[in-house]
Amino acid sequence: MDSRTPSSHASRSAADQTSTQTTPTIWLENVHKTYDLGEIQVHALRGVSLEIYPGEFVAVMGASGSGKSTLMNILGCLDRPSRGKYLLDGKDVSGLTKDELAAIRSRKIGFVFQQFNLLPRTSALENVELPTIYAGIPVEERDERARDALNRVGLAERAGHYPSQLSGGQQQRVAIARALVNSPSLLLADEPTGNLDSRTSVEIMEILQGLNDEHGLTVVIVTHEPDIARYAKRAIEFRDGRLRKDVAIQDRLIAKEVLPNLPALDEEDLGPPANAASTDSNNGGAPHQE
Ligand code: ADP
Ligand code: MG
Repeated sequence: MDSRTPSSHASRSAADQTSTQTTPTIWLENVHKTYDLGEIQVHALRGVSLEIYPGEFVAVMGASGSGKSTLMNILGCLDRPSRGKYLLDGKDVSGLTKDELAAIRSRKIGFVFQQFNLLPRTSALENVELPTIYAGIPVEERDERARDALNRVGLAERAGHYPSQLSGGQQQRVAIARALVNSPSLLLADEPTGNLDSRTSVEIMEILQGLNDEHGLTVVIVTHEPDIARYAKRAIEFRDGRLRKDVAIQDRLIAKEVLPNLPALDEEDLGPPANAASTDSNNGGAPHQE
């Protein structure tokens, strides 16, 4: 039952001029999140209202501690608002139980993390298959779905590799395939390029732009790098738990066009640990895991 189409917020978002008739994928009204640590309370979100429509590609920016991950966890149904309302595809999910949220998450949302979060002793194919098990996809369909998803990120031929045999960029592509395997309508990525060198980051953005352009997937990524945000269509910025900025990207970069002008990085030559040629690594953990 998703008969509720919420009324618009007073201030229109930057990118929804043409989509006022459509049900927003994400609709937040006055969302607060307070972490209760006994002695003190941390106000991570302080009244966030936001609409994101199908087919948008949004970059979430802001300093460390400004509430970006808290927002993503709420959007991804990994956590609930302390106060305020969240409608996902027109359905109010703010009051659902953990189990109900998990069920919605597994059907509608793909999540990608900075650290890839792959199971180390499990092949790429099996990592990608995992969410199909939780979603109750019949056994005979799982393998095909996982292979399809690996194919979409250009890694079909690496299905049997373990994470330690893959470069950081390849591991993140496996993680994206895992996020896609249940055909979500919303892809959330929290600093997906945070552990990758600049060329590999653009390769990841190429995949995300492809999914957004060709498949109409709604994409929301957190990044604190302005250069990465320019691959999105819209940027929002948090400060101290509040939304401070919401703009359409004017000079959008297209990864397909940028890549040929970047120095090549021959992944075939990269045995593990596969973090050679890192140009601007912030030392956030090598892609190689045990
Ligand atoms: P960002 O992702 O922008 O760096 P976060 O959303 O992770 O910011 O954090 C926002 C604020 O909430 C910070 O002050 C952080 O310390 C706090 N915070 C985040 N998660 C928790 C938690 N699980 N328990 C307590 N405080 C938290
Ligand atoms: Mg964060």
